[in-house]
Amino acid sequence: MNSERSQRIGNGHGEKVKGGVRKKSGLAHRKSLNDSLEGEVKAFLLDEGQLHTYDDLTKVNPVTPTTVLKCLQARYRAKVFYTHAGCTLVALNPFQPVPDLYSLDVMKEYHCAPQPQESKPHIFIVAEEAYRNVQGQVEPVNQSLVVSGESGAGKTWTSRCLMKYYATVAASSSLMKSQDTVERIEKRVLDSNPIMEAFGNACTLRNSNSSRFGKYIQLQLNRSQLLVGASVQTYLLEKTRVAGQPANERNFHIFYQMMTGGSDEQRSEWKMSHDQRFAWLPNAEKTLEEDCFDETVEAMVHLGINAEKQGHIFRILAGLLQLGNVTFCSAMDESQPCDLEEKSKDFMHRCASLLCVPVEELQTCLRVQTLRAGKQSALFKPCSLADCSVRRDCLAKVIYAQLFEWLVTFINDSICADHSTWCNFIGLLDVYGFECFQVNNLEQLCINYANEKLQQHFVAHYLKAQQEEYVSEGLEWSFVKYQDNQGCLDLIEGIPTGVFSLLNEECLLNRASDAKQFRVRLEKELSDNGSMSWDKFSKQPHFTVAHYAGKVSYQIEGMMEKNKDPVPPELIHLLQKSENPLLHQLFADRDPVGQGTRGLRQVVTVVSKFKNSLENLMKILHSTTPHYTRCIKPNTDCRPLTFKKEEVIMQLEACGIVETIHISAAGFPIRIPYTSFTQRYGLISNLTLFRQGAGEQGLEADNKEALGSAVADILRVVLSHSLDASRHIDNEARSSLV
Ligand code: ADP
Ligand code: MG
Repeated sequence: MNSERSQRIGNGHGEKVKGGVRKKSGLAHRKSLNDSLEGEVKAFLLDEGQLHTYDDLTKVNPVTPTTVLKCLQARYRAKVFYTHAGCTLVALNPFQPVPDLYSLDVMKEYHCAPQPQESKPHIFIVAEEAYRNVQGQVEPVNQSLVVSGESGAGKTWTSRCLMKYYATVAASSSLMKSQDTVERIEKRVLDSNPIMEAFGNACTLRNSNSSRFGKYIQLQLNRSQLLVGASVQTYLLEKTRVAGQPANERNFHIFYQMMTGGSDEQRSEWKMSHDQRFAWLPNAEKTLEEDCFDETVEAMVHLGINAEKQGHIFRILAGLLQLGNVTFCSAMDESQPCDLEEKSKDFMHRCASLLCVPVEELQTCLRVQTLRAGKQSALFKPCSLADCSVRRDCLAKVIYAQLFEWLVTFINDSICADHSTWCNFIGLLDVYGFECFQVNNLEQLCINYANEKLQQHFVAHYLKAQQEEYVSEGLEWSFVKYQDNQGCLDLIEGIPTGVFSLLNEECLLNRASDAKQFRVRLEKELSDNGSMSWDKFSKQPHFTVAHYAGKVSYQIEGMMEKNKDPVPPELIHLLQKSENPLLHQLFADRDPVGQGTRGLRQVVTVVSKFKNSLENLMKILHSTTPHYTRCIKPNTDCRPLTFKKEEVIMQLEACGIVETIHISAAGFPIRIPYTSFTQRYGLISNLTLFRQGAGEQGLEADNKEALGSAVADILRVVLSHSLDASRHIDNEARSSLV
């Protein structure tokens, strides 16, 4: 028989023997239960008074959305924020600091525990398990910690906790022995957080520190499992925020930090008087994030961004703020370019001076389109009033996005270890959760597509693989229905007829974008896909996608433009002339017409870029052992200790948690390779023979002993995990049995 084939024992409350699966417990769907336990299990139903004590949702019986919800609510009330759901950890956001939950002592406790899984559920269990798994039993296995959840659920907080954990337990310094600051590399890795949050996070209606980009960070470990470096990959920065924010939301933190943290000297260098107001800095009333200017600057210094480079960065940002105050008005003579509003002239001068570009040229670029007519000659066409504003915003967006990218590259250069010094990694994925707003456009389509991919990865890894393996091994198994989202993915990424392909095609045609026309095309090509629908009565051209987490209607108007994301070549030419060395560097290698009308077939659209980077990410995830943490936001107002059932249940449904629990509960979590199993427990099969035939008197004394110990072994596993979990036999009774 195949020695790789695994045998499973136990009823779902097992310890990991092979394959890096954490201890799980569960009662449902099992046919192979120890007979003597079966009666107990059946009798075990939800004990309402004890709900908060269920540290694994697989222990809840029956597993239904209601019982799971009740259990989580009881735990939240009891201020217990982590709960296992089989192979997933559910993290409820406390929305208030929890004293000592993440202290050094707690880290030590989990790190040093012989069986961390047996401690109280905590994000550090996931961290520690991944850390131990990296070393693998046969060969090292890279790990991925995927943290998901909707905006404000606690993903970034959790990722930070995980990074701190590794910077502590995997530190080459002696941090575990003292409260000293961490060694340089660990500190640098941690310092990447405040910088990226300052430039990539903003206060939104859902989260006052909302990440406006996705992030995958790989923590690099050497052979001794010490943290020697890290690398960061970011996804889809919401650059539109720099030049316009949804009502009651704010721009990126860094701008507010400069306003409150900059010294008088800096402010004058930034040409920013104390009373100046900025159109792109709405809702400037104080929040905690803007007190962090010193922290951001300190982190920059640690990572090697010296005072000179900081100066360049802040002058560019100050230039953008001045640019945001520039407004245009129609010229008297319509054949002439638009005028600047009188008060804007000063802003324009300040902006040009801060960006170190000639002011005349800046003004022209924003108001006049250059049409190339052959290689030598050019035609000049005044832009419409609306186009002038579009160009102004475009200039800000392209500069900010490029600056963010430069920062990420700089951070990587500073913290990434030499390839020869590291051999394994633990990856932390913190990406925006599923989004469904009143109006959804290309950004939401990309974000929700990423979530579909992650959900598929989760389903493939835990659900499908587990179930299919049982079937292939002929194990008795009742199928749990799970939602397969392949249909939805085909709809979005299908080639040649998926939304992305059709959208790209439309953009390549280089004709005036027509939302209605595109809508007709979508309907023609995709109406067979069950995940696509249309609201016949909607006035706006749109399409509706049935995502695994719910239906979302996407507005088509503006989608093609967003996908092309064109930058007028004049703007790039201008930036290449900048005397701000950093700004110049940001655009030095860029082909100004790369995104323009020429070189039509090489156009790199937003969706194709995003799809590529996501495919790379998925390849990495597939090559690692994943660990899923689902962050849940107990209420939308970010209020401490407030549990809104309707909101939680929607999130539980969106991440398929009930199905996950069913499968985890019903699975066989103890997996022993077939040969080891027969070596260790083969004797037991003889027991039946002895009973039927020769009887026990036929056994050699040695065999009797071995048999006794094997039986005791099995009983110990079964009893300690099943009975302990089901809480039916108290400790005393159990020890007498074992
Ligand atoms: P997300 O990244 O999912 O959008 P965040 O991680 O930024 O959400 O969390 C939103 C806010 O919730 C944080 O700023 C913090 O105030 C609070 N929070 C999240 N997790 C915790 C936690 N474990 N303990 C205390 N507060 C938390
Ligand atoms: Mg976040």
